[in-house]
Amino acid sequence: MTIYNFSAGPATMPAEVIQEIKNDLPSYKNSGMSVMEISHRSALFEEIFQKAQQDMRDLLKIPDNYQVLFFQGGCTLQFTAAPLNLANKYHRIALLDSGHWAERAGAEAKRVGVKVDVLDSSEKDHYTKLPSLEKLQKDTYDYLHITTNNTIEGTAYTQLPNTDTTELVGDMSSNFMGQRYDVKQFGAIMAGAQKNLGIAGLTIVIVRDDLIGKVPNLPSMLDYQLFAKKESMFNTPPVFAIYAAGLVLQWLKNQGGIDEMEHRNRQKSGLLYDFLDNSKLFEAPVIKKDRSLTNVVFVTGNPEIDQQVVSQAAESGLVNIKGHRLVGGMRASLYNAMPYEGVEHLVDFLKNFEKNYRGKH
Ligand SMILES: *Cc1c(COP(=O)(O)O)cnc(C)c1O
Repeated sequence: MTIYNFSAGPATMPAEVIQEIKNDLPSYKNSGMSVMEISHRSALFEEIFQKAQQDMRDLLKIPDNYQVLFFQGGCTLQFTAAPLNLANKYHRIALLDSGHWAERAGAEAKRVGVKVDVLDSSEKDHYTKLPSLEKLQKDTYDYLHITTNNTIEGTAYTQLPNTDTTELVGDMSSNFMGQRYDVKQFGAIMAGAQKNLGIAGLTIVIVRDDLIGKVPNLPSMLDYQLFAKKESMFNTPPVFAIYAAGLVLQWLKNQGGIDEMEHRNRQKSGLLYDFLDNSKLFEAPVIKKDRSLTNVVFVTGNPEIDQQVVSQAAESGLVNIKGHRLVGGMRASLYNAMPYEGVEHLVDFLKNFEKNYRGKH
């Protein structure tokens, strides 16, 4: 039975990449060593590293005045690092509360003494839509933090909020490389790799040159300027995770790049949302214009039926569709590596489930 893994993260990876890792594993480029065993200072790794960075720059069209930095500690550590590095003038940031990860980012900023103003929240709508930004006061905030894709609640910004008067910082963990954003509109972007770019252990930070190097004596492992200067090798980087991300980036290039991925992600999520919108049993609670392409949340309204859906789906090879405990119901994560056939199988399963359910009730 083919298994389709709809996990929100760590998540499914391209089958070709898994195969490549398997082939490379015992002896990378006939070196007699696996990638797990080579020095981060070796020529073998240097090549992996440079290629991964360049491919990321090409795919995202990252301008030359932006740094691409590789960190450990997950996106969660960037909730600390970003305010430490970037909230250095007003020591105050603005936040749009779009759900769990936005809230977490605000909480961590506060822990390092930065004031956080929540300008709008969609909590009262159970995060089934995005908060909106009416206006942003000038000379008040170091930046506005947004979560471009809300992994748990299933919303995503297609149109970015207007931030003429401050910098925009985006947590892009769950739609990084899954849909096109203009990097120039951001002061900084952060993303953990384990959703759409490979395996856990690597976090990407893309940050504009002129924003860094303003705070002396930051903890070294959180210092954007130091990581830029040391080309992300102040200490041992996550070698294997960077290697895996490199393979995913090459795969993305072979598939046609970000625009092609966005096109496919629209087709995949569209297939599922269309079914849900026409179903009498299932429902997608997020309003249409704010729906995520990568994390589709849906419910029946009855937790017992939801539970049956989740367990019967797993028996059919459609695994990890249980919703996040904060939201309940189901969630299908349709990252780049999820093939269209996987979503077709899921929709067929849901159709059958609904038919059987109607037969009995
Ligand atoms: C998963 C996720 C995080 C947290 O990532 P970690 O790597 O576990 O720290 C933060 N933000 C978003 C949007 C996420 O999806």
